[in-house]
Amino acid sequence: MKRASYRLSNIPPSATLGISARARELRAEGLDVISFGAGEPDFATPEHVVAAAARACYDRENHKYTASAGLRPLREAIAEDVGRYSGVEVDWSEVMVTNGAKQAVFQAFAALLDPGDEVLLPSPHWVTYPAGIDLAGGVTVSVPTRIEDEFKVDVESLERARTDRTRLLVFVSPSNPTGAVYTQEEARAIGEWAKANDIWVIADEIYQRLTYFTDVAPSIAAVTPRFDNWVLINGVAKSYSMTGWRVGWMVGPSDIIDAANSHQSHATGNVDNVAQHAALAALRGPQDTVDEMRQAFDNRRKLMLSLVSNIPGVRCVEPQGAFYVFPDVTGAMRGRWDSTSDLATVILEEAGVALVPGESFGVPGHLRLSYATGETEIERGMERIGDLLAD
Ligand code: GLU
Repeated sequence: MKRASYRLSNIPPSATLGISARARELRAEGLDVISFGAGEPDFATPEHVVAAAARACYDRENHKYTASAGLRPLREAIAEDVGRYSGVEVDWSEVMVTNGAKQAVFQAFAALLDPGDEVLLPSPHWVTYPAGIDLAGGVTVSVPTRIEDEFKVDVESLERARTDRTRLLVFVSPSNPTGAVYTQEEARAIGEWAKANDIWVIADEIYQRLTYFTDVAPSIAAVTPRFDNWVLINGVAKSYSMTGWRVGWMVGPSDIIDAANSHQSHATGNVDNVAQHAALAALRGPQDTVDEMRQAFDNRRKLMLSLVSNIPGVRCVEPQGAFYVFPDVTGAMRGRWDSTSDLATVILEEAGVALVPGESFGVPGHLRLSYATGETEIERGMERIGDLLAD
């Protein structure tokens, strides 16, 4: 007898979270497992943020609900942050605080999609977007990219995928899983195309400050003049090493934020009050830890890229942002495994390294390796993978 609903039975669990859960289990069993799985910085949350949260715990005010869209001082700080890093002026009322950027993704799809609306999703894409689109009744239309184009879409490829039902585009720069970063000109061309065709853009900017060749990734909203149909998504998880605190946000026109907030007021109410104070401390406090972490990620990026590229048969584009490499490993597989899913399982079971197969991002033949882990771990893990592929 059917038990779970049809809608939910069709949603696979998050592969990125699944692989890290599996790595944790194996470690708990005493195995030496190295994780290149979920993209989660290995640094502690900055001390001043933890101290602010500890203080907030002892204030009885913070044991209560906040407005479902979040604390006003936090919304104001986020609005300033959007001006500083995305380059667009927004009012605090155009900001909604969410339970991590992940929930902002769901809220944004729920606020913008009607059943049958098509969503252009450049592929490879993060595992969670199709689930959010599906649950909102939308239809995912993958827009394939090529390794030769550094996994970026352009106006021609988007135009080929556009139909009368196209409602929105998911624009992610820096990209998870490829690390691709769109230049201002590339982003502007895509923004102009979206504006001309009355297509909404959800811009996921969670890795915006983790770029290695520019200070910040250009925001499509800022570089497209007089374009209003955008929603920006961001959060404190990656830049401040605050993955577990679950504070993200969505920013957009008031009518869309109001709709999303109505939804949120029923679904979850407010984000954890203490965690909102921690996020406020992160945004308002010293920013030197962000730069220190970025420098460490850059060193790890170079190390990981050189070790991956040294494996015979592997092709890898240099990532410009985020903290992933996404090599094509078909040449290195030499027909020994049926799929990269199988290969990822073998790498975990036999080499003790957790990583995510390309299938989870819509592109078989690749593996995603997160370098948000220490250099010694990267060296040990890559040696194991290299040995396994060389056998
Ligand atoms: N976004 C990160 C990743 O892709 C963290 C896990 C998740 O939320 O999917 O690994």
